Amino acid sequence: MFALQFDQLDRQAELRINPAQLRQIAQKANSTILPVHRQQLLTQGDSLLWLTWNELSDVFEDVQDKHLIYLGQVGEQYYFSYRLTEPEYLIKQFQSVSLKGLRELIPVLSEADSFLANVAIGIEHWHNTHQYCGFCGHATYSTLAGFVRQCSNPECAKEHYPRTDAAVICAITYQDKILLVRQAQWPENRYSVIAGFVEPGESLEQAVAREANEEAGLTVTNIQYFGSQPWPFPQSLMTGFTAEATHPSIELKDDELEHASWFTRSQINELVDTGQLILPYQYSISRTLIEHWRNS
Ligand SMILES: [Zn+2]
Repeated sequence: MFALQFDQLDRQAELRINPAQLRQIAQKANSTILPVHRQQLLTQGDSLLWLTWNELSDVFEDVQDKHLIYLGQVGEQYYFSYRLTEPEYLIKQFQSVSLKGLRELIPVLSEADSFLANVAIGIEHWHNTHQYCGFCGHATYSTLAGFVRQCSNPECAKEHYPRTDAAVICAITYQDKILLVRQAQWPENRYSVIAGFVEPGESLEQAVAREANEEAGLTVTNIQYFGSQPWPFPQSLMTGFTAEATHPSIELKDDELEHASWFTRSQINELVDTGQLILPYQYSISRTLIEHWRNS
């Protein structure tokens, strides 16, 4: 199955209203804090650098509530993240520490660490991109343990909530073939299934039907939900579907795709073996959709 599916995090949203209590919890022996900087994670080798409160406050004398995000509890352990503005201080303090993106870490991290890192970088990215109120333009500040940004203008005082962009991704089949497509900017020979963002006022199924038509000129039927994957590059929720095309003729209607074609299972096997076809990233829902069809 695809990555980022860990389901044991209790987010304990009820604790978010009490920053003093959260600060106390963060200082407990069974609490751990993940520093994050611009969607990158501090790592030592293949492990995430999780810090205790004392380790963090050794480096930053003033550990600020506005940078502390409460991720939640797993078993007896409390998890926080900390938005770093100056990662170089931690890099100096700890041996052989470097900044890495989650995409390269997913294959080596535990399921829990990948998932928690994903939550941490998702919310950090939202903070970085929502520093100002979209209604009045005044600065916003972090509140509710990092899950709300509030406008600092008292006459506005709007609360802004973390944003997630809904996207659909769909394995479209016709008889014994699957539709694989590629965009010009992808690495050579990389193919995937069609995908796109959901538009305002649109259901997920309508988005699938529209994307199939816009990208490949196809009409689809029997649209079935497959599963979903939070995909933090930078802030999407991928909702996976399968669907059947009512006809095989492909028409590239917009500039989004460079190529689209039907492939049988044996064609895929052959092309993958010879390196002429590179399937999507192993831990993605797109790859899982393709493998699900290959194995069906
Ligand atoms: Zn405002």
